[in-house]
Amino acid sequence: MGGLAGKVGVVTGGGGGIERATALAFAREGATVAVVDVAVPAGEATVQMIRSAGGEAIFIQADVTRSEEVKAMADRTFETFGRLNCAFNNAGINGEIISVSRCTEESWDRIIDINLKGVFLCMKYEIPRMLKSGGGSIVNTASVMGLVGEPGHPAYAASKHGVVGLTKSAAIFYAQAGIRINAVCPGAVHTPMVETVLAEHPELKQTMDSLAPMTRMAEAEEVARAVIFLCSDEASYITGHPLAVDGGWVAR
Ligand code: NAD
Repeated sequence: MGGLAGKVGVVTGGGGGIERATALAFAREGATVAVVDVAVPAGEATVQMIRSAGGEAIFIQADVTRSEEVKAMADRTFETFGRLNCAFNNAGINGEIISVSRCTEESWDRIIDINLKGVFLCMKYEIPRMLKSGGGSIVNTASVMGLVGEPGHPAYAASKHGVVGLTKSAAIFYAQAGIRINAVCPGAVHTPMVETVLAEHPELKQTMDSLAPMTRMAEAEEVARAVIFLCSDEASYITGHPLAVDGGWVAR
């Protein structure tokens, strides 16, 4: 039991790599967790892991691009547990490695929809319930590609720069209302998303390791620890901050 004892948290994309590690860490730190994912088996598996470890969690199926599903997710969490204190808005997709001129409109729209509009919709429906709960803390997932450009990822980098701008703007607006809003900006993290990229492009493994001066990818747990810190009262004076968790990638 630790820094999130007695709190209720939402983790979107809860069946994925970073999300599952963070949902488990939320529960370890004493929070009750609503695990949210469009993929039912993966999200339910995360809930089972939390329950097996003695924690409390529910699974809610929702597509973060669909307003009515996101609203229903926030309503159900609030109605089930009577409050909402923390949110990790993290569901996202990568997209193919491609130039601006070859990126299709469909691919652009899908990446912006999930990675950026999804975060907007989550905050839109979480914040009123956090205000009713007496305040809270939100962490949105951006990326190092929300801080620097990257050839081959135009839509992804645009979506993640958007998440950073959205995070800062919302943080300023709610600074006096008791809601802190920050972002994490991971470098390459060892997750199913990255495994998929490496399965298609095995030659990228060495490049991905060498992007960080620490010459390795992050483990999902290393991102989870940063999220827990930002959600906890230990970070009580931190808001509007995009925190790089990148082994020094952006410092280079
Ligand atoms: P992942 O593919 O392991 O998990 C993503 C999860 O999001 C999956 O469970 C998927 O079902 C869910 N999801 C996808 N679309 C959804 C939707 N519309 N509604 C609800 N859920 C949806 O991915 P990951 O590597 O853990 O990445 C998670 C987040 O971290 C993403 O936002 C990603 O951009 C970001 N990120 C990842 C890395 C990395 O190297 N893995 C680096 C920087 C940032």
